[in-house]
Amino acid sequence: MTGPLSLRYVLDAPQPQSHLLEVELTVTSPEGPLPSPLVLFLPTWAPGSYLIREYARHVEGVEASDGGGRARAARKVRKNAWSVEHDGARRLTVRYRVYAGEVSVRTNHVDPTHRFWNGPATYLVPEPCLERGLRAAVQPLLPPGWSAGTSLPRGPDGAFVADDLDTLMDAPFECGPMTPRSFEVHGRRHDVYVWANRHAGSIDWERLTLDSRRLVETEAALLAGDRPAGEALPYDRYAFLWQVSPRSRGGLEHGESCALLVSPTMFQTRGGYLDVLSLVAHEFLHLWNVKRIRPAGLASLDYERENHTRLLWWFEGGTSYFDWRVLRLAWLATPREYADHLAGELARLADTPGGRVHALADASFDAWIKAYRPDENALNSTVSYYLKGEVVCALLDLEIRSRSQGLRSLDDVMRHLWWEHGHPGLPVAEDGMGEVIARSTGVRVDDLLERWVERPGEVDAGPTLALVGLR
Ligand SMILES: [Zn+2]
Repeated sequence: MTGPLSLRYVLDAPQPQSHLLEVELTVTSPEGPLPSPLVLFLPTWAPGSYLIREYARHVEGVEASDGGGRARAARKVRKNAWSVEHDGARRLTVRYRVYAGEVSVRTNHVDPTHRFWNGPATYLVPEPCLERGLRAAVQPLLPPGWSAGTSLPRGPDGAFVADDLDTLMDAPFECGPMTPRSFEVHGRRHDVYVWANRHAGSIDWERLTLDSRRLVETEAALLAGDRPAGEALPYDRYAFLWQVSPRSRGGLEHGESCALLVSPTMFQTRGGYLDVLSLVAHEFLHLWNVKRIRPAGLASLDYERENHTRLLWWFEGGTSYFDWRVLRLAWLATPREYADHLAGELARLADTPGGRVHALADASFDAWIKAYRPDENALNSTVSYYLKGEVVCALLDLEIRSRSQGLRSLDDVMRHLWWEHGHPGLPVAEDGMGEVIARSTGVRVDDLLERWVERPGEVDAGPTLALVGLR
């Protein structure tokens, strides 16, 4: 084994109306020949979205040539992998097309107005990189007047660079004729990139950018606690990638960016706009909670198969609890709106009989086959770890406040997770949340975790709500 392989991806879409992204990957060995055969694989899923998506079904026309320009056969060896035989080449070029026809935050979309792609759906990766590492450069070829939005920094030759697989896979691109927008918080630059389609033209981006800035400031302060707020921001630059498309809502978190998909109608009502802001607050909070504070089950990622964790009730449900809490802390939602939101979530949970047969932690583990693959029996057989996780976290917050005589809250738990786990890179044990809560608040809630998280059953919210005079 020698050093990291050098990968250069050049992406173009000369016929965007066909929704095809053309990729040319050049693999170079820093010393000695490349292994023969060289096997290249495409991930089957995108971190943050727990479903085997079989991205390889959108790949076509794979062909390879060596450094001398001689064609080399690319043979399919697995559903998502190709093998290239060669005789000691130090450089191979692999060309392929990716069908990009689905508007969503976890797939690819190309049309005459823009190009949006996710790493796992796009980048073939030589298998030796899993051992040897990689140095990747991504070079989009764009029409005049277009620009590329991503969190990756630019290298000396202008291409975007990533020095490991996770970073490469974690940085989606939005490319198009975009109006530059950005804001600063605590010396960090935040870029706002918007798919410049006809729906985006009706949105008040100035207001949304200002409100996003308030959310960033509020979350930084929440995570910092007694420290200067800027110390909680673990990046130099962060990118918001926006898509506006009818009848859509979705977000996908990344370490230094997020992809956000909303419907234009969401901007037409107060409730819809609060939903947009809660999406921003949610995906941004994930830069800590799941991207850096990791459950043990997602500590190191296998891009080809399911990665299970029992803790999505915290990493998604907790993030869902905090997204609205942050709207309230930022004074973007009124106390009444916040109370109405929580009441609505309690009512929705009460209407989910599946919680009586599927424990919250098991619903997390089974995300791949349940939450992301709902069928006609889903309501009876499982429960959303977003919804029940949010309700459980709201109730845990009240219980912690009550049991600590008002001295501690779930904020302390989140801060502890960041500074004691995320910041030093120590994953959270799959059965570790009880201990984390005890250490960060001095309060034990193991009885509640056993009842609400580990075992199936309805959530008895009444006694906890009564602690603060609610019912
Ligand atoms: Zn989430």
